[in-house]
Amino acid sequence: MSEATETIFSKIIRKEIPADIVYEDNLCLAFRDIAPQAPVHILVIPKQAIAKLSDAESQDHALMGHLLLTAKRVAEQEGLTNGYRVVINTGEDGGQTVYHLHLHILGGRHMAWPPG
Ligand code: AMP
Repeated sequence: MSEATETIFSKIIRKEIPADIVYEDNLCLAFRDIAPQAPVHILVIPKQAIAKLSDAESQDHALMGHLLLTAKRVAEQEGLTNGYRVVINTGEDGGQTVYHLHLHILGGRHMAWPPG
């Protein structure tokens, strides 16, 4: 099992602090980023507290697939028919700031490449 860590996202999962939740099921939660970097910026997180992608293990494979398919579902729900970007910042060099695994869904504008 991955190490469980208490973060601001744990509080969002427990509904102890408010978030603009756009999707929820028994495995994950999706909510709008508090500091959006695009017209649509949503985070998809597992309810299980995996700190970062590099901590995910083989037994997490179904959950990992579920998170990706949830990102697709939420993007459709948001009407991102012209495309979007899914990002997982991982660790210090990846620019991760909240150590609870999350997928960023960014859409509503053209995305540049490479990212900064
Ligand atoms: P990362 O830098 O990949 O770890 O992304 C963390 C993201 O969480 C950032 O885009 C923050 O704006 C976002 N964030 C932090 N606190 C909250 C919050 N309370 N509600 C929604 N998004 C948040």
